Amino acid sequence: MDFTRKESEVLEEIKRLQSSFPNLHFHGSHPAVSTGPLIPGCEICIRSNHRAYISFPLGYHCNAKCPFCFVYAYKTDTPDKRKEEEHIRKSFLSEFQHHKDKIEGVAFTGGEPLLYLPELKVCIFEIKKAKSGLHFWVYTNGIIADDEHLGVLKDLGIQEIRFNLAATDYNKEVLKYLKRARDMFKWVAVEVPSYPKQKDKLIGCLEELNRIGIDQLTLQELLVTDINVHNLEKEGFREGYQSGIQLGLISSTKFFLYGSRKMTYEIMKYCVDKKYSFTINDCSAR
Ligand code: SF4
Repeated sequence: MDFTRKESEVLEEIKRLQSSFPNLHFHGSHPAVSTGPLIPGCEICIRSNHRAYISFPLGYHCNAKCPFCFVYAYKTDTPDKRKEEEHIRKSFLSEFQHHKDKIEGVAFTGGEPLLYLPELKVCIFEIKKAKSGLHFWVYTNGIIADDEHLGVLKDLGIQEIRFNLAATDYNKEVLKYLKRARDMFKWVAVEVPSYPKQKDKLIGCLEELNRIGIDQLTLQELLVTDINVHNLEKEGFREGYQSGIQLGLISSTKFFLYGSRKMTYEIMKYCVDKKYSFTINDCSAR
């Protein structure tokens, strides 16, 4: 993948695309841009206080294998990995304890969080013991999001669930689980990377997402890392700066797939024209 695009040109293009929408919601200094109100997890995330929530990886075992995945997710579980992850969870629990006064919500991620229900139970128990009234949300690829697994999440007090439909290339069975989730959770969202290769598949299920009555569709700008760079095609661009990096001084650089955020605004326009009821949120990791 080449990183020849200039960040300034990409940003100009996005600004032009944004200007064709009359009522976009901007959220202070946070890069999120939405067509309407955001679900509580996002509301907490965009607050200027960056410690308002904690993103808590339960472990990196996953039953999907996404070309765009930017974490070291693995398919085959081993006792060694489980042990290592136990340490990671402990360190996140102590980070939570350290910042708990400011924290308003906890986002459970993975890997695939539904493969970690006993661990999730322990973590939520510890967190609730330390502080009550928090907002909890979970990300899932939806592959095993049946009544049994969703029921456990609900009983644990999860209020918000986000399905990554892109992980299964917008599989119809997962859409059925999403529909069940709508009956069980107060807030239901679909959160996918804006991956131009899957654009038609996403468009193909938007009508159904509207019928189901999801609250929000979040489209993430596709982050390129060492892990996924060899799976992605076309061009990328670099965001941020590097200064004195040889001396370990300053590095704030991220890499993104060019065309990802452009796709976000094309999907947004499609949804707005169709007058779908859910909010569309442009989310970028910059
Ligand atoms: S579902 Fe998530 S964690 Fe699993 S492979 Fe896909 S992007 Fe990675």
